[in-house]
Amino acid sequence: MSIRCIFMCLYGVYNSKLGRWFHNCMIRNRHERRLRSGLGLDHSRVDKEIIDFYSVKIKIVPLGRTNFSYFIQDAATGQLAVVDPGDPDYLISIAENFFKTPISLALLTHKHWDHSAGLKKLKDYYPNLKSCASKEETAFEITNPLADGEMIALGSTQIKLIYTPVHTKGSSCFFIEPERTSSILFTGDTLFVGGMGAFFEGDYRMACSSISKILGLPDDTYMFPGHEYADTTLKFAKYLQPNNRLLDNKISWVVKRRARYMVAIPSTLKEEKSYNPFLRIYDTSFYVLLGVRHYLEAISKLQELRMKKRNEYRYIELKVHPEAQ
Ligand SMILES: [Zn+2]
Repeated sequence: MSIRCIFMCLYGVYNSKLGRWFHNCMIRNRHERRLRSGLGLDHSRVDKEIIDFYSVKIKIVPLGRTNFSYFIQDAATGQLAVVDPGDPDYLISIAENFFKTPISLALLTHKHWDHSAGLKKLKDYYPNLKSCASKEETAFEITNPLADGEMIALGSTQIKLIYTPVHTKGSSCFFIEPERTSSILFTGDTLFVGGMGAFFEGDYRMACSSISKILGLPDDTYMFPGHEYADTTLKFAKYLQPNNRLLDNKISWVVKRRARYMVAIPSTLKEEKSYNPFLRIYDTSFYVLLGVRHYLEAISKLQELRMKKRNEYRYIELKVHPEAQ
């Protein structure tokens, strides 16, 4: 049996009800540990984690070692949405104890359990909950399936689904243009700081099409990914672009944040376009580094290098550059 066959079997198990059961056992244990330690009820530091975008507020919720969920609150009405409910007990606890508001909308970027397993429990807890994902996502029941570019309202805030398949066939991003401030993009596992998610269910053309849509968004858009993978993605980016000063700036920022036990998000699309190798596939000046002449060759080469050269880039040390800004 080939490695590809073994991988696809394991991937199939992960996406099955057995995978969901395993994920739920993991998060139940984590929540019980959190309650025992008191952390599950300690919201005294939450104020610092709210990011104010004038007409909406965003709260980052780190889950486990690398996952992120997010709260979105419409400032005009106080209505509350959650992005990627992987751990429902923790999210309900924050909604009740910090926001003191029920969750009225769940946005799901894709089907993987670490992003979606909490949907059922949220629906049971909040019977009027609306749920949104791409209409191409058929792994779970949602009340409001959206087509590419379609909007859903959270109070006076409009949230647009941008269909960006390749990590999974139903993968999407959610885009908000608040009043008077920069835009916001929740990218799930499509786009990370310095990299992209694995191409589990899509081909290179699909990846290029999804990347084009993201490149078309405003530079000052704040990007909130589904995972904290900067340790790996920035090493690969540095391996490819050893002399990219803008990348050195980002690495320095991440290292300083980590030293203070802070999350290394959000990033902006302007920053990502300058060093994220996957967002540079249409940048002909990047082709020289890859030895390619076309964006399809570029995406293929990036996939090949990130798989085959892992043992070369994984040992690169991320450190503060002496001239970093
Ligand atoms: Zn995923």
